[in-house]
Amino acid sequence: MLSIENLSIFYGEKQAVFNISSEYKDKSVTAIIGPSGCGKSTLLRSINRMNDFIPTCRVEGKVIFEGSDVYRPGTDVAKMRRQVGMVFQKPNPFPKSIYDNITWGPKVNGMKFNSDELVESSLKKAALWDEVKDRLKSSALALSGGQQQRLCIARAVAMSPKVILMDEPCSALDPRSTAKVEDLIGELKANYNIIIVTHNMQQAARVSDRTQFFLNGYLIEDNDTKTVFTKPSKKETEDYITGRFG
Ligand code: ADP
Ligand code: MG
Repeated sequence: MLSIENLSIFYGEKQAVFNISSEYKDKSVTAIIGPSGCGKSTLLRSINRMNDFIPTCRVEGKVIFEGSDVYRPGTDVAKMRRQVGMVFQKPNPFPKSIYDNITWGPKVNGMKFNSDELVESSLKKAALWDEVKDRLKSSALALSGGQQQRLCIARAVAMSPKVILMDEPCSALDPRSTAKVEDLIGELKANYNIIIVTHNMQQAARVSDRTQFFLNGYLIEDNDTKTVFTKPSKKETEDYITGRFG
């Protein structure tokens, strides 16, 4: 369903990601871990072409989503991004009501839907419905950070994506909100292909089925999460997960 082939990513002359090949399975969570600056966000953003917004960024190789390369000329990028949603580090709800946050994307994309049903089902999938059902018309900005992030996940889910990319979605959240988002990820994986970048190794161990360890733009280790954390094959991985890395 989703794979990358010989992917290299450059900012100007500087190469940030080196010749990565990988497959990402449906109905599973893959965690991408590694120290700051190792290319995690760069790789994640390349999957739904968010790097297009960075003028110096250049991508070589392929990202195959449902059988075709998202970088091939003629790709309907907007359509692809509807199916490959993204949740960012800092919750970024629109300055609109909770209700309108959910319906806005489907509306501007000309999707056909029943608004009330879509709002309820999306908020339920994001484990937020019970907390907000009595104030759907009030501003999303009045929600707590953790609620805002779950709203952003609900907003992504409302587009009926197949893949959800998450870039350190809990790094701005307190531990309780983090636990809620982690529980939510565990529920969502029944229906989506989730790739989560996290600098938090405990989080990777808790939420993911598979873990990829990156270092200096290289994919060093790629295995089921338990193996990566208990029997890593590379010394660099072991140094990182045991904290000898700094
Ligand atoms: P991570 O998410 O693992 O912290 P990034 O993907 O953000 O790492 O960055 C990887 C490398 O690419 C770093 O050396 C970073 O400085 C560089 N980089 C990231 N974004 C840009 C950008 N917009 N322009 C130039 N260089 C960038
Ligand atoms: Mg990053």
